[in-house]
Amino acid sequence: VIEKGTPDKSVVTTCAYCGVGCTFRAEMRGEDLVRMVPWKEGKANHGHSCVKGRFAWGYAQHRDRILNPMVRSSVDEPWREVSWDEAIAHVASEFRRIQSSYGTRAIGGITSSRCTNEETFLVQKLIRQGFGNNNVDTCARVCHSPTGYGLKTTFGTSAGTQDFDSVEQADVVLVIGANPTDGHPVFGSRLKKRLREGAKLIVVDPRRIDLVRSPHIEAAHHLPLRPGTNVALLTAMAHVIVTEGLVDETYVRERCDGEAYAEWAAFASDPARSPEAIEDLTGIPAADVRAAARLYATGGNGAIYYGLGVTEHSQGSSTVMAIANLAMATGNVGKPGAGVNPLRGQNNVQGSCDMGSFPHELPGYRHVSDSATRALFEADWGTVLDAEPGLRIPNMLDAATDGTFKGIFIQGEDILQSDPNTKHVAAGLAAMECVVVQDLFLNETANYAHVFLPGSTFLEKDGTFTNAERRIQRVRKVMEPKNGYADWEVVQLVANAMGLDWTYTHPSQVMDEIARLTPTFAGVNYDVLDERGSVQWPMNAAAPEGTPTMHIDHFVRGKGLFVVTDYVPTDERTGPRFPLLLTTGRILSQYNVGAQTRRTPNEAWHAEDRLEIHPHDAENRGVRDGDWVSLRSRAGETTLRALITDRVAPGVVYTTFHHPDTQANVITTDFSDWATNCPEYKVTAVQVAPSNGP
Ligand code: SF4
Repeated sequence: VIEKGTPDKSVVTTCAYCGVGCTFRAEMRGEDLVRMVPWKEGKANHGHSCVKGRFAWGYAQHRDRILNPMVRSSVDEPWREVSWDEAIAHVASEFRRIQSSYGTRAIGGITSSRCTNEETFLVQKLIRQGFGNNNVDTCARVCHSPTGYGLKTTFGTSAGTQDFDSVEQADVVLVIGANPTDGHPVFGSRLKKRLREGAKLIVVDPRRIDLVRSPHIEAAHHLPLRPGTNVALLTAMAHVIVTEGLVDETYVRERCDGEAYAEWAAFASDPARSPEAIEDLTGIPAADVRAAARLYATGGNGAIYYGLGVTEHSQGSSTVMAIANLAMATGNVGKPGAGVNPLRGQNNVQGSCDMGSFPHELPGYRHVSDSATRALFEADWGTVLDAEPGLRIPNMLDAATDGTFKGIFIQGEDILQSDPNTKHVAAGLAAMECVVVQDLFLNETANYAHVFLPGSTFLEKDGTFTNAERRIQRVRKVMEPKNGYADWEVVQLVANAMGLDWTYTHPSQVMDEIARLTPTFAGVNYDVLDERGSVQWPMNAAAPEGTPTMHIDHFVRGKGLFVVTDYVPTDERTGPRFPLLLTTGRILSQYNVGAQTRRTPNEAWHAEDRLEIHPHDAENRGVRDGDWVSLRSRAGETTLRALITDRVAPGVVYTTFHHPDTQANVITTDFSDWATNCPEYKVTAVQVAPSNGP
């Protein structure tokens, strides 16, 4: 029973699952949360929600939560519960010891995209001001870092160009590498409504996602391309648009860099990049590519929505830029109903990127080498900042195994489960002298930790999240932290134990500091958020009402930049031993590795991950529906049950990754995006064989 009792008060707050950012009334009776009711005034959800936000909050009171700090001198020893004072003093003395023995840059940290903007800002401040380096990274490294690189390069800033409301003015919707009805359900429902009203749909996905065919919806085109060939397909669409005279010449002339456009147009029009030339590579008939390109270019307002099927590739950044090229060539950026819109996974992954969680960028996407920006922060913080970019997560792990990186503070991120090549992550963590993990539960990464600091849930803190449409919304404290402190308070305790002098008494003061130091947030404060419900950045003197649609008169970088995106095959190849390609995705009721949803009633709705396999591939291997199969790659092996379906094409298999037993990252490869190191989770060559089970 989830809903019980009669509430006597309610608090409006924001869902802590996905990047849609639905708002809810948390209804309380006394100190007990009774139910979560979707908030009608919520601008991201307009009173709607999915099962996760509505029902999957029981983890906040789950018995598995760790409520007391714990330390141990070696990972072979049992944990010892200690007071907060002892734990914080231990963390500070260990980090100081490491720095005096191995140098300032021997420690770093990872921010959490599940935590608030204010908490993320403070973690990067702790690292930059307290540790004295830029060794800070975030989970976006393994999901949307190519969005950061690609959209910043082409448009000038790393953010979706539209608000969700804009979909109501779209005439043609191109969904690529995303499954909105499962991954971003409330937006998925809005999209379906628009499609039922008559907007045309193009889906680019190796798998037949629900959107392709559902009641009253039939995609105009489904292009089930071979995994790993996004860039070739998008460039072939560009070829059609350029060679058939479908470019919006006026837009390109007025809004884009002419020299870069000319170079790109010459590249795209090369016959080697035509749909016919790449037919065998992608597996998509040339006529289908031509028809889809014509529809996108001529069908009216064209809106592109994409997800991790775009970014988690060795050419993730190139794919994002290929998408941006298509949108600029057709004049589809800077007006409602159009645009380029990354569907962000985690509730605050947009915010964690905005807040300077990257080793090369201060808050607001300003490079650490920019002396004017550094001077602004230095004057405010009274510290000299490091001008050298720091280490990304994989580089921290490499440096640890090399013996030059010795300590890490990981807030709300289970890198052993979520990052590629589990063996490499484990080796890096094992080589460190002080691993500090802050989380709700003893996660897999905590097996390698020396200090465990209990985390607080979104129900136990004040702050803000920023959703996929750049909408900043309040998170409000519904109950006192069961562990004693909100996460932002813990960061402040660590900072002050390391000799800093922070005096924040409420997250609103952190937001005031963010606004003071970040031009795109200059007009944001808690009074405005309370009054308006939410605002979309940039919000400042130039945009006092916030910015639902970006790049209206000009791109943030000035002229939009076309980038030549040559297709480069992944190094992950199929062959006689590994003939199938594995790709992965999510299901509606579960969330990522399931740490939260598996501790709620949602657990019953998706008891295990299954391997989707085409009937021909199953028959060739003697596999029947429901059989156990072994799934083996060059990196490792796991076991799960088969689900025979023609949703996947022959040669392609698919699984979700919500259950720890699946251990999907045991079999993923070391390959990553050329620009950002985002792992290539979406293409793994595998073999499938009958098995007796785990
Ligand atoms: Fe939460 Fe996303 Fe579901 Fe909305 S769609 S309730 S933000 S998980």
